[in-house]
Amino acid sequence: MKFSIRSVLSQAMQGQTGWKPQWRNPEPRAEYDAIVVGGGGHGLACAYYLASRYGLHNIAVIEKSLVGSGNVGRNTTIVRSNYLLPGNIPFYETSLKLWEGLEQEINYNAMVSQRGVLNLFHSDGQRDVAIRRGNAMRLHGVHAELLSRDEVRARHPFLDYDNARFPIMGGLLQQRGGTVRHDAVAWGYARAADKLGVDILQNCELTGLRIEGGRVLGAETSRGYIAARKIGLSVAGNSSRVAAMAGMRLPVESHVLTAFVSEGIKPLLHSVITFGAGHFYISQSDKGGLVFGASVDGYNSYAQRGNLPCVEDTCEEAMALMPALGRLRMLRSWGGIMDMTMDGSPIIDRTPVEGLYLNGGWCIGGFKATPAAGLCLAHLMARDEPHEVARAYRLDRFATGRLLDETGGGTNMALH
Ligand SMILES: Cc1cc2nc3c(=O)[nH]c(=O)nc-3n(C[C@H](O)[C@H](O)[C@H](O)COP(=O)(O)OP(=O)(O)OC[C@H]3O[C@@H](n4cnc5c(N)ncnc54)[C@H](O)[C@@H]3O)c2cc1C
Repeated sequence: MKFSIRSVLSQAMQGQTGWKPQWRNPEPRAEYDAIVVGGGGHGLACAYYLASRYGLHNIAVIEKSLVGSGNVGRNTTIVRSNYLLPGNIPFYETSLKLWEGLEQEINYNAMVSQRGVLNLFHSDGQRDVAIRRGNAMRLHGVHAELLSRDEVRARHPFLDYDNARFPIMGGLLQQRGGTVRHDAVAWGYARAADKLGVDILQNCELTGLRIEGGRVLGAETSRGYIAARKIGLSVAGNSSRVAAMAGMRLPVESHVLTAFVSEGIKPLLHSVITFGAGHFYISQSDKGGLVFGASVDGYNSYAQRGNLPCVEDTCEEAMALMPALGRLRMLRSWGGIMDMTMDGSPIIDRTPVEGLYLNGGWCIGGFKATPAAGLCLAHLMARDEPHEVARAYRLDRFATGRLLDETGGGTNMALH
C-alpha cells in the first residue's frame, strides 16, 4: 500500500479500517542467498539495500524479538555528520545524504527534521578544537558554522551563559543535522524491504552458526536451521555474544546507555544542543517532551536499564546547561545496550570466517549511521569488498594499531 494524500483521505472516509499490515509474517524458508541477523535499523536497512541496489531478493532478516525493539527504538534520535577524521566524515556525510532522501525513497514518514545540531564550547581550548573540526568538515565539503556567544544567546536565551564553572563561549553548528523519528526508521525500512521480497522473521533468534572448513553454511535459529552462504551480523549491543558463536572474541564491551524524556511543554528548543563541558545532549520532540541523555554506565552489562549514579550525572549536566530544566517533571527513562569499541569507531568488515560479515561496535552513535551502515554492509555482503566510505572500519585495526580515535578518548569506554 502506497502512502499518499489520496490513500490518507480515502482511509479517513472509511474510518481508518482499510490499512493493511506493513509487512508480511512469513515462515522461514529452508535456504536463503543471504541472512541478516538483527532487525534493528542497520539490519533492516542492509536488507533493503541488498534488494534495492545490489539485486539480491532471496534474503531474510532474523530478529530475536520484534522489529525495532532494540536500540533503534531507544535512542535520542540525533543525526549529524560533524566529524573530524578523514576516515569518518565521508561515511557520516553519506549517511546524512541518505537521510535527506529517505522518506521519498521508501515512501514513509520518518520525520526527518534538519533542525540543526549545536555543539557548545566553554573554554578557549575547546573553541580551538571546534574550529579544527569545523575546518575539517568544510575541507570535506560539509558545511559547518562557528557561532559566537552572542549568536548562541540570540538563538537559545534560556541557557546558563554565566555559569561560573562552564561559561558558554560559543558553538559549532551543523544546520543539516537534526533528528529523525527512530522507530519509524525501523518500520519504514522493514516495509520497504518486505515490498522487495525480503522475509522479515521476527521472534527468530540466532542460536548458533554452522561453519565448515572455515566457511559459513547457515544459521541455527529458534525457528530451525536456515541455510545461507552469506550471513551479516548486525546485532548492536549483542555483537560480542553473537560473534562468539563463530569463535570470535571482539574488541568490544557492552555497556548501558540511558535516555530520558520530560513531560511535554510548548516549543522551547529549536535545535539539538550538546553541552561541551561534559557529555550531555538535548532536543525537543515534536510531541513537546525534552529528550536527553549523557554517558554510558561505567561497568559492563546486558541490562536494558541504567543505574542511579547515571541519572544523577545526567541531571547535574542538565542543570549546569539549562537551570530551568529543574522545574520539569520526568516522564520516562530507559536504557539500551551499547557495543563499545576500544577506539570509539565502528566495524564493518569481513570476518575470518568466509561468508560471515560483521557490522558492529557502534558505541553510542549508530543511529545517525543507519542508512550508511545498511548500505555499506549490503555492499560488503554483495561484493565481498568494503564500500569506499567504510574502508577505515576494519576489524584488524585493533591488532595493527591503525585506530580511528575520533574523540581522542583512548581505550576508556566511558569517554566514547
Ligand atoms: C539511550 C540511547 C541513546 C542513543 N542516542 C543516539 C543518538 O542520539 N544518535 C545516534 O546516532 N545514536 C544513538 N544511539 C545509538 C544507536 O541507537 C545504536 O548505535 C544503533 O541503533 C544500533 O544499530 P541498530 O539500530 O541496528 O541496533 P538495534 O536496534 O539494537 O538492533 C539489533 C537487533 O539485533 C537483535 N538481536 C540481538 N541478538 C540477536 C540474536 N541472537 N538473534 C537475532 N536477533 C538478535 C536485537 O533484538 C536487536 O533488535 C543511542 C542508543 C541508546 C541506547
